[in-house]
Amino acid sequence: MAQPLDSATRQALTARIRFYRDLGLTEFYRRPVDPALHPTDEDLSVGTPALLAQLAALPDEPQAEAALQTSHLPQASHMEDQPIPPRKPFPSAPAISGAVPAADRAAALQLIRDEIGDCTRCALHKGRNKIVFGDGSPAARLMFVGEGPGADEDAQGLPFVGKAGQLLNNMISAMGLRREEVYIANVVKCRPPGNRVPEPEEGATCSPFLFRQIDVIRPEVLVALGATAATWLLGARQPLAGLRGRVHAVRGTKLIVTYHPAYLLRDPRQKKEAWADLQIAMKELGLKPPAKG
Ligand code: URA
Repeated sequence: MAQPLDSATRQALTARIRFYRDLGLTEFYRRPVDPALHPTDEDLSVGTPALLAQLAALPDEPQAEAALQTSHLPQASHMEDQPIPPRKPFPSAPAISGAVPAADRAAALQLIRDEIGDCTRCALHKGRNKIVFGDGSPAARLMFVGEGPGADEDAQGLPFVGKAGQLLNNMISAMGLRREEVYIANVVKCRPPGNRVPEPEEGATCSPFLFRQIDVIRPEVLVALGATAATWLLGARQPLAGLRGRVHAVRGTKLIVTYHPAYLLRDPRQKKEAWADLQIAMKELGLKPPAKG
């Protein structure tokens, strides 16, 4: 019989899954398990692959702890009967439209916003307060793409205005830019409940609007903040570690992949790595960091 996990172990597992997810590791395989064996201490400290797969679907932020009540966690013996769902295909990128003159970009973005309307295209509309379309300069040379709105963004209708947003603002200042000079948007425009990762259907429904925003703005450099943004921009799920440190091409624009600011708040030691990624973006834009003073 599988043993129920105590709350300290559950918390440790949640933290580990967040860490893996921020690294872009979202796939967990299942080793054959001899049902006659009890889980070892080691299994309980790191989680079985099947349990890791279940936990990977849990929310990302403080709500994760609440979601880890016993009733939310299937018993290990039951989970081992359940196959891990197959990955859904990603939509192929639509054709890139003709360039929109800088003077017309605000109006072109407004047309996209109008088309989104009071959207009910996916389930996320049920829990949202405000649609978070995007924010910043329609003529931006640099565009950041996050995952989806959190509670603060949902309340204000603006991207990255909570704690992660404050860190993003600092990152932008460190690059010698003002927030108003860049553009910021997300893969999904409505808050996923409990800040969970958007479901494939939700990303597939909403990301075409993001692509159209990119096609209007045509930034010289895109920065994907975290694995979800990288996945939807590149159209394939790959570990973040393998995507960082180089320049990708997406929709005629250079793409740099870095950590999500929320992850950097949880593990500030990675800020140095994120700064190295932003310096690649700065090099592509011909920017020098502001002089210290
Ligand atoms: N996290 C995101 O990915 N996007 C936001 O807008 C805020 C937090």
